[in-house]
Amino acid sequence: MSRLFTIIFTIFTTLTSFAVSAPKNIILLIGDGMGYAEIALTRAYEFNGDEGLFIDTMKNSGSVIVKQLMIDDPSKIEFTGESASGGTTISTGNRTSSGRVAVRAEDGAHYKTILEEAQERGFKTGLVTTSIITDATPASFAAHAQNRYCFTQSSSACSTHNDIPIIEQMLDQNVDVMLGGGYNLLAATVREGSTVKKKAENLGYTVVTDRKSLFDLNYGTKTLGVFSNGHMPVEWVGPGGKGADFVKVDDNRVVIFPNAAACELNPDHKGTPRLEEMSKFALESLKNEGAGFFLMIEGASIDKQAHIAKPCGTIGEMLAFDRSVKMAVEFAKEHGDTAVIVTADHGQATQVIYKPETYDGSPIRRDLIPGLYQLLLTRGGHELGVYYGTNNINDQAHTGVNVPIHTYGMDNAYSLMGVIQQTKIYGAMKEFLFN
Ligand SMILES: [Zn+2]
Repeated sequence: MSRLFTIIFTIFTTLTSFAVSAPKNIILLIGDGMGYAEIALTRAYEFNGDEGLFIDTMKNSGSVIVKQLMIDDPSKIEFTGESASGGTTISTGNRTSSGRVAVRAEDGAHYKTILEEAQERGFKTGLVTTSIITDATPASFAAHAQNRYCFTQSSSACSTHNDIPIIEQMLDQNVDVMLGGGYNLLAATVREGSTVKKKAENLGYTVVTDRKSLFDLNYGTKTLGVFSNGHMPVEWVGPGGKGADFVKVDDNRVVIFPNAAACELNPDHKGTPRLEEMSKFALESLKNEGAGFFLMIEGASIDKQAHIAKPCGTIGEMLAFDRSVKMAVEFAKEHGDTAVIVTADHGQATQVIYKPETYDGSPIRRDLIPGLYQLLLTRGGHELGVYYGTNNINDQAHTGVNVPIHTYGMDNAYSLMGVIQQTKIYGAMKEFLFN
């Protein structure tokens, strides 16, 4: 009798726990290359160095240790990060080597991603980025490849390791909403012989390539939106379209510092959807009463602009990313049961300085400034010096600094506070979403 009672009680409590537990959602926002220096640059330019960013208001915060494994010998550590290895660490909880997308460094075995696990459990999924949609960060959630540049069948990167083209994997993964750059991908041939566009349509995707068509869609439409040839244009450019450059010198090779000048809007961005507009479409499309969702939103060109030593590009993308974070938190406040996690995959080469100087005040000669420099005039009228010194060309390197993490709405937020390993993020997301 008591056993029967136990069984009935168990069934009853199981049913009620199913009935009361609402579906949960995660909005994961990754600022690519968004180290503390890129954030400080943006805060200085836009807010006189005050706490004007939305992420500055997020008080559940931590500092994430970034590292990756050596390509040739994964038993060795490389003390920096990259988007494929960082994306993999965030999406699967495992460190891997540079360029590897959700695969093990030693043997290429596939790691299951948080997006794949969420989907298996009936969650809706979405990927939004300002890069080409197949780029390393979104790919790390919905594809597996030894080489991140295996975008389409024609990419030579695919044949090196017999990787399946990332765009085909992402479509086969059936991600409900994918928005970003890359309309050049659509005409590519797929392995079955048709094109990416046809394959997407056969899988039930509506394919859109401009802002207006995206806005015309009903929320909830299974969408592949690609709005630019390759990566999407950035929102800001430097004064006169210029980025950091070698400093000029007089006849004695003493530096003549440039006049400070302000950032400008990028005319090429006009007409393309903004990150927060794509994010809004994804959020409204994925929210449904029956299932939760997992959505990754990437501000991709915080990194890409730092690579090419364009601080204004980084600032504009950083602000767009920050607006998207604000929108995500507002969504979470309104709908509940939603965790917002904001972090970066790795830091970038940006250094905020005043002017290159010597401590003893002696004149600086050109040969003492090997990198690239720009003096910006901030919104508040202050001079802001930015320096890139990882090399002499417009191809700067990632750095191994810690990156921030901020969360909102997690019942296990404590696990992402203080100094943490990047591998922790996956476990915390999993615990929030599935427990
Ligand atoms: Zn990069």
